[in-house]
Amino acid sequence: MEKRPLQILLVDDDEDDYIITEELLREIMGYQYHLDWVNNYPTAWQQIEQKRHDLYLIDYRLGPDSGLELLRRAVALGVQAPIILLTGQGDREVDLEAMKAGAADYLVKGQMDPAVLERSLRYGIERKRVEGQREALLESERRLNQVTQLLNTEMDMAVLWPQVVQQSAALIGAEAGALALLADDGRSLHYHYLFNLPPECAADARVSGEGVAWHVLQTGQALLIPNYAVHPQALPYWQQAGVHSYLGVPLVSGGQKLGVLALFTLSPQREISPRQIALIESVGQQMGVAMHNARLFAEVQQRAAELQRALTRLEELDRLKSAFIRNASHELRTPLAIVRGYIELLGQGEFGELTAAQRDPVETITMRAQALSRIVDDMTAVWNVESMELTLERMNLRPVVQTAVAEFRLPSHRAQLQLNLKIAPNLADIMGSLMHLTRVVDNLLGNAIKFTPPGGAISVTLQQHGKTVILDVVDTGIGIPEYELERIFDRFYQIDDSPTRRYGGTGLGLALVKEIVEAHRGVIQVNSVVQRGSRFRVVLPCVSE
Ligand code: ADP
Repeated sequence: MEKRPLQILLVDDDEDDYIITEELLREIMGYQYHLDWVNNYPTAWQQIEQKRHDLYLIDYRLGPDSGLELLRRAVALGVQAPIILLTGQGDREVDLEAMKAGAADYLVKGQMDPAVLERSLRYGIERKRVEGQREALLESERRLNQVTQLLNTEMDMAVLWPQVVQQSAALIGAEAGALALLADDGRSLHYHYLFNLPPECAADARVSGEGVAWHVLQTGQALLIPNYAVHPQALPYWQQAGVHSYLGVPLVSGGQKLGVLALFTLSPQREISPRQIALIESVGQQMGVAMHNARLFAEVQQRAAELQRALTRLEELDRLKSAFIRNASHELRTPLAIVRGYIELLGQGEFGELTAAQRDPVETITMRAQALSRIVDDMTAVWNVESMELTLERMNLRPVVQTAVAEFRLPSHRAQLQLNLKIAPNLADIMGSLMHLTRVVDNLLGNAIKFTPPGGAISVTLQQHGKTVILDVVDTGIGIPEYELERIFDRFYQIDDSPTRRYGGTGLGLALVKEIVEAHRGVIQVNSVVQRGSRFRVVLPCVSE
């Protein structure tokens, strides 16, 4: 570019000084400058406000006005060009003030010679140039940070990309931009998020192998085309839009090509430097990562939505199942009671004496009907514990456990199991519901018997520990794998739920036990070793005296 003469403004009310300054300037700069002279404050301010000079020489004394004041005002206005204050012989004390006010230098008028002036101008201009560069660097760093922050925080791509295109353009002083994204089939590029360009620029997709964007994508390298208009692959719409130069950087993530960030200058004055290309390349890399993350995020969201749907469906099924069981248990209760009533009467000979051959079947029916009743009771109890407030009364667990163990003597004998009971003396009372706690002990004992092979032993102990009463039901049975321990307390959960399973049951027993224990502000724990046995422990708070 052709070098423009340095534009200098001299503000001095003394014409002699103007002439001297002019001579000095000519001596040091030949004709590589243009000097404007104004001799008063108001006209000087008008000139300064236009900010079109490259250098200002301001006299400290401007008739009634102060050059220092003018300097301050110029600095406050944001004048970037260096300002040199010219002081008289006796004004040395203003030096410091001038520098503080933002003067690039000060010169004592009488002592000005070509060497002094030349040095001052050179220093002043150079310093401003360095300052300008530093500010430009800071500014681009600030903008880069903005883009980075945006890429790291905005998850909505429809919001993110237009902003990134715009901010990237601003980062290097480009006036327009767009994002070319690879279509899902990987064969064509489509322009999106046009910034400062007419919509028709996005009109045609660049099919595989064509166009500068495709070239950038293929090579994975940034491409700068300083004079786009005459490029053989220039697109007519972009030419019409007045694109002057083109910069494209690839968007790549994890080796996968995703698209191209394209930025354009529209005026020939703007040039893109290698440093700016490097900046945009780094933005491109970050965009690649953000795109990758966005895809992952979208996938995660989709999965989450699918899971949510599945969960809602499961909840619905669970609700239906619960409703069905509640209704079924309710409906079964009455006919079962009638069956049991008649069987009992039959057994008692109310409908005539039973023959020897009839006795056994009737007893079997009686036992099976009782078993059925227990299942229905379990089913009903689960819903009751859940929906009813338990009425707790002061009571002792000793008789509850003793009775239960007594009732289970016969079944355990039949199952060829030893049944031991140990109750510590002076067991403290608890607050509890007799009916529900009986069910707890029954269920734990029933399971112990059910899941312990013949020859095994079951021990029931009741003891006191601090302010709690502890019930242990220990068996030498089949045990429970560790990964099942959590789930056995779920409603209807059975480790073996196959149709061919060995053990009967509803899978409601432990769920019920847990709910009852917790309704008593107690806890239930289980320890188990497969093929060795299990220990179920119920800890209940005792009444504090
Ligand atoms: P179920 O009606 O099947 O007994 P529970 O809720 O009482 O239902 O028990 C759930 C599952 O926990 C049982 O199916 C069984 O697999 C396991 N389980 C319970 N108690 C024992 C035990 N003492 N020994 C081994 N497994 C047990």
